[in-house]
Amino acid sequence: MTAFVIVGGGLAGAKAAETLRAEGFDGDVVLLGSEPDRPYERPPLAKGYLLGKSTRDSVFVHPAGWYAENRVDLRTGVTVAMIDPAAHLVTFDGGTIGYDKLLLATGAHARRVDIPGTGLGNIFYLRTLPESDALRAAFTPDARVVIVGAGWIGLEAAAAARTAGSSVTIVEPLPGALHRVLGPELGGKFADLHRAHGVTFRFGESAAEFLAEGPGSAKVGKVVTTTGAELPADVVVVGIGAVPNDELAKSAGLDVDNGVVTDSALRTSDPDIFAAGDVANSYLPLLGRHLRMDHWSNALNGGKAAAKSMLGQPVEYNRVPYFYSDQYDLGMECSGLPLPGTYDQVVYRGDTTALEFIAFWLNQDRLVAGMNVNVWDVADDIQSLIRSARPLDPTRLSNPAIPLPEV
Ligand SMILES: Cc1cc2nc3c(=O)[nH]c(=O)nc-3n(C[C@H](O)[C@H](O)[C@H](O)COP(=O)(O)OP(=O)(O)OC[C@H]3O[C@@H](n4cnc5c(N)ncnc54)[C@H](O)[C@@H]3O)c2cc1C
Repeated sequence: MTAFVIVGGGLAGAKAAETLRAEGFDGDVVLLGSEPDRPYERPPLAKGYLLGKSTRDSVFVHPAGWYAENRVDLRTGVTVAMIDPAAHLVTFDGGTIGYDKLLLATGAHARRVDIPGTGLGNIFYLRTLPESDALRAAFTPDARVVIVGAGWIGLEAAAAARTAGSSVTIVEPLPGALHRVLGPELGGKFADLHRAHGVTFRFGESAAEFLAEGPGSAKVGKVVTTTGAELPADVVVVGIGAVPNDELAKSAGLDVDNGVVTDSALRTSDPDIFAAGDVANSYLPLLGRHLRMDHWSNALNGGKAAAKSMLGQPVEYNRVPYFYSDQYDLGMECSGLPLPGTYDQVVYRGDTTALEFIAFWLNQDRLVAGMNVNVWDVADDIQSLIRSARPLDPTRLSNPAIPLPEV
């Protein structure tokens, strides 16, 4: 019988398995994942789940019985150590499985900070369910929390910590929050939001060393920054980006460059191996270049697309990049990539001070990206405008009386 093997039990892997069955694939589906839990969604780990507002059960992609019901052979706690593309075999501790088609959905891991003192207690990363559990317990009203990195993870963790009553200081070497992903204009608005909730930022400064809370203690007590400042810290959260888990692919001889390189059908350099989700650096026709996206919707849709591609269906994975975040009472969706240097103006529609608006990043009057903040049901329209690549009148764009499709 034909066997399709999926390495990586996250959202991309789970959605690929679901799609194989939904498309009528009748062969064996084996889903191998390192973590002890069945596939779960990560966004709640920095939001509702971290805040204690949602249950553990609500984070899983499928109910526990779904895998057996759908003849998906889910094996948790299994780390694939080697792929042999010539023999069509994957090897893990305790076994070997042959495959006809293989999907790499191994995701990414949190980038580690490499400074003295990283081995001390109460220094946290946020990628997995147990890490979210540990952080939730650490965010107490009297905790002094220092966050390393003002990216999405850092800011969402800050919102959770402040909501729990902890004090929060964020150390970030760049000049602003979310600087690399949103640029200074919108990054500044997020920083203002956090300041209004009592967060202190230290921009232009990195963590240089973690110090123990006292002689003989194994627990962190201070973060020393590159300016020599010593910040008292009961809890440290490091959120400095994600690194693709592409070592398996590399050692199997696949093309790897900041993730597993694929074409727009999510095929790797081996015709029987595919890649999706955070680990894939896929050719995106819309941008005319490869892009690695570590975002929820890319794992969801990329997993589905890769499954169809594995089945030999014609696939062009060409979605507008999409990301969402919730912090305090702010909910937003961002479509496109508003990277500094790719736009020449930012236009707003709505009330930026009341945090109910849409921001548009334009380059020579063409829409590069759009972010709706506490405004809903417009992401599809924004994505259509990005796809159309037609010149837009910024005055009409900023006029809420003109429906977006008519701008
Ligand atoms: C805390 C947090 C909050 C987030 N919030 C948002 C958000 O608000 N909005 C948004 O758009 N995105 C968000 N993201 C990003 C989003 O969750 C990821 O893009 C998504 O989880 C990627 O899914 P994936 O299946 O590709 O990879 P992963 O979720 O990383 O899953 C890959 C799995 O493969 C396993 N694995 C790795 N190597 C092997 C191996 N050799 N053998 C077997 N298994 C292996 C890993 O252990 C892991 O379980 C967030 C991420 C985190 C961590």
